[in-house]
Amino acid sequence: MFESITEKLQGIFKNLRGQGKLTEQNIEETLKQIRASLLEADVHLEAIQKFLEKIKQKSLGKEVALSLTPGQVFIKIVQSELINILTPKDKTSTRLKFAPAPPTLILLAGLQGSGKTTTAAKLAYYYKKDGRKPGLVAADLIRPAAIEQLEVLASQIQVPIFKPAAGEKAIEVCIRAVKSALESNCNMLILDTAGRLHVDESMMSEITSIAQRVKPSNILFVADAMAGQDIVRVVTTFHNKLHLTGTILTKADSDARGGAILSITSTTELPILFVGTSEKMDGLEPFYPDRIASRILGMGDILTLIEKIEKNNEKQQLDKLKLAQAKSFNLNHFLDQLRQLKKMGSLQDMISMLPGDVQMKNQIAQNAPNEKKFNQLEAILLSMTPQERQFPQLLDGSRKKRIAQGSGTRPEDINILLKQYDLMKKMMKNENHAEKLLRQMGMNAFPKRPPF
Ligand code: GDP
Repeated sequence: MFESITEKLQGIFKNLRGQGKLTEQNIEETLKQIRASLLEADVHLEAIQKFLEKIKQKSLGKEVALSLTPGQVFIKIVQSELINILTPKDKTSTRLKFAPAPPTLILLAGLQGSGKTTTAAKLAYYYKKDGRKPGLVAADLIRPAAIEQLEVLASQIQVPIFKPAAGEKAIEVCIRAVKSALESNCNMLILDTAGRLHVDESMMSEITSIAQRVKPSNILFVADAMAGQDIVRVVTTFHNKLHLTGTILTKADSDARGGAILSITSTTELPILFVGTSEKMDGLEPFYPDRIASRILGMGDILTLIEKIEKNNEKQQLDKLKLAQAKSFNLNHFLDQLRQLKKMGSLQDMISMLPGDVQMKNQIAQNAPNEKKFNQLEAILLSMTPQERQFPQLLDGSRKKRIAQGSGTRPEDINILLKQYDLMKKMMKNENHAEKLLRQMGMNAFPKRPPF
């Protein structure tokens, strides 16, 4: 279901994300494309206009312009507006109304072939599983096989059925069923009425008189999801006469383009209570606007895409951060590092486990200090001023001499240390995984101090 519109919208969003920045111009262009794909899905014009207007208002707002990921924010706006057009203003109307005194009545209305009889039985099955005691009323005396069809289904799901006796009219069987429901152990009745191929006076007057007489708490219009936007006109006609309380969209499992589902609530304010998803008795699902919106947007895929992009952005940011940290890596950090390393085993082994250029690692490993060397390096570093450790470029000949004297080493030893420090810094710049690995090994390649 909705494959075609889903595919189109995904293409549009992909395009938009490629543009990086949202401008009034590319928003307009995107809205135009969305409009075309909704028209193609046979969505009612009024629904399209409301939908696009809202998206436009929101996407031209500050929150989107200031966002780091405007394309994604835009998709989220589309998603929330899609949910909005699928949700009536009165949210309480989305639930079935249970009568204060049983039986609760559900009167089904709709055109012939829309799936009324099947849906009547599915509803009975649904509420039976929910612990209610439904009964079915066969009041479709027009379609020849309707009564038998309901009878077969009733016995299949094992719920009582009220059928018209010889010469009994539709309204009479309904009244009789309501009167005897409690005696038949039913606290809910589902009334399957006659439909016609199109709206017709006698059908309307029959169902209107049934509604006026039995006063059902729920009058649900059963619509075929394949119907497209034409259904809006039909629902409106029924609504004007019957004061519908909601709708059920059948055959949502077919290759419905989305026209009916996306048009009904937005144009009539009627909720969709259920969707039919197969011919079978358990093929009836409560309607959740957010789930349908996600399905229409192919959100599973989009979310994956967004995640990928976010990960990539994160990676880029992390890389930048690492580069900045590597740049600021100074001898103070080197000293910290050294002290941590001293606590661990063989430095050569650990270096060999690091990812990165083998030659470079060998070079470091060869020069890697042993216990004695460690102490010597520490002594050298401690003979420097904190400022010299922070800005190693300050270390000219005379400073090196002073440091060598202070640490009981030779100026060459200081050069060796500086060389090792340089290599370490280079390796950090080149290797993104170095930090992670060092952390895993219990070492902190980037001491937790501000990089700048
Ligand atoms: P009615 O004339 O309105 O009572 O329509 P029916 O209940 O006889 O349904 C017409 C056809 O649609 C039947 O073949 C049903 O099996 C089929 N149908 C009803 N609901 C669904 C549904 O949700 N999915 C599918 N695939 N078929 C359905």
